[in-house]
Amino acid sequence: MSLIVQKFGGTSLAGLDRIRHAARRIVETRKAGHEVVVVVSAMAGETDRLVGLAHDISPDPDPREYDVLVSTGETQTSALMVMAVQALGVPSRSFTGAQVRVRTDTAHTRARIQAIDVAPIRDELARGAIVVVAGFQGTDQEGNITTLGRGGSDTSAVAVAAALKADWCEIYTDVEGVFTSDPNMVPAARKLERVSYDEMLEMASLGVKVLQIRAVKFAKQYGIPLHVRSSFSDEEGTWVVTEEDVMERLVVSGVTYNRGEAKVTIFGIPDTPGVAARIFSEISDSGVVVDVIVQNVSTRGHTDLTFTVPRGDLSRVLPLMQRLADEFGAAGITSDDSIAKISVVGLGMRDHAGVASKMFRVLSEEGINIEMINTSEIKISVVIEEKYTELACRALHEVFELGAGTGISEES
Ligand code: ADP
Ligand code: ASP
Ligand code: MG
Repeated sequence: MSLIVQKFGGTSLAGLDRIRHAARRIVETRKAGHEVVVVVSAMAGETDRLVGLAHDISPDPDPREYDVLVSTGETQTSALMVMAVQALGVPSRSFTGAQVRVRTDTAHTRARIQAIDVAPIRDELARGAIVVVAGFQGTDQEGNITTLGRGGSDTSAVAVAAALKADWCEIYTDVEGVFTSDPNMVPAARKLERVSYDEMLEMASLGVKVLQIRAVKFAKQYGIPLHVRSSFSDEEGTWVVTEEDVMERLVVSGVTYNRGEAKVTIFGIPDTPGVAARIFSEISDSGVVVDVIVQNVSTRGHTDLTFTVPRGDLSRVLPLMQRLADEFGAAGITSDDSIAKISVVGLGMRDHAGVASKMFRVLSEEGINIEMINTSEIKISVVIEEKYTELACRALHEVFELGAGTGISEES
């Protein structure tokens, strides 16, 4: 008998028929002799609807009340799921984040999990029930409701799995697993059988939303194998596991895109020690996370600095940059919010030269200008005009031979 955590994403719960379908899967797992704990997202579109309501009533909603509101989508599906399981004749009980004491810090809208009390879950499992936990929500030390950031039910699921020492955690979604690129954008994308935690971490941080990055971090930290699979088929999905368990060694295992960033440039700032430190500490003090940074070669004691921030934070960053530009006597600032960051990712890049040149060549052949470049041991990212996202992903996917039946390269 194994203990399995099954997480169902919004599309797997969109409407009562899908909830019933998921309930049948859950009950089948239970009848196969396993203990099952389910973590649910809100129905597809529900969190967006609630976020929209909050912004319609207030341009700057109170974060505490925002969390009270947006957490309700998961509360609804947890109760509906339990009713569907009970209708199949199996005992079941729902828990809100507060009821299983998913204790978080107080950072409303992006809270971090600090502890979970699994005693109530264990009691229910012991009486043979299927436990359904509302994902995405927790409470802080004072009992205020918090939420874990968009996509946070993935993190709830892995945290519950870690706290229960579950054998593995299944992530049911609307695609068959983790692909070499977004299957909804690149038709030739191929399902990966296994990826390492580190590759998945990199992919999640580069915009692959099939798993929230913090869920992958948790899974790696506690050694919980993740099985990303479709709730609409019985096919094996993708296992996210330790590097030793990944048999297929690819130089490049994926092409990712992120259209959620904007670019800011400050021109003609003094090239003296402390300027960059000042700019980036002001930005981070305002709670904004900077991603790619490029500084030009200095000419006559002045330089230009370009960086990217989440698109939603641009309106907060621009006035701050204008103030700093005035203070430093800079030549000016510009911004662009129609950019995309395209990346190639792969553990094999650690010991392969030539990936960057191949990437830049194919982009130039497609007439795509590279605006910024950022590299790490296992990824190369470029910032380009947003309108070329699909073209760039498809071209890179092809040149790195990631499509069906190709892409395997012998380790050298
Ligand atoms: P859920 O509602 O189940 O949490 P998400 O919408 O958060 O699902 O994540 C699934 C989506 O992630 C897919 O529909 C797909 O478009 C997108 N995606 C982007 N890149 C990839 C990739 N490399 N592999 C699989 N899915 C991807
Ligand atoms: N419902 C939340 C969201 O849409 C959490 C999740 O689905 O993981 O972001
Ligand atoms: Mg998701």
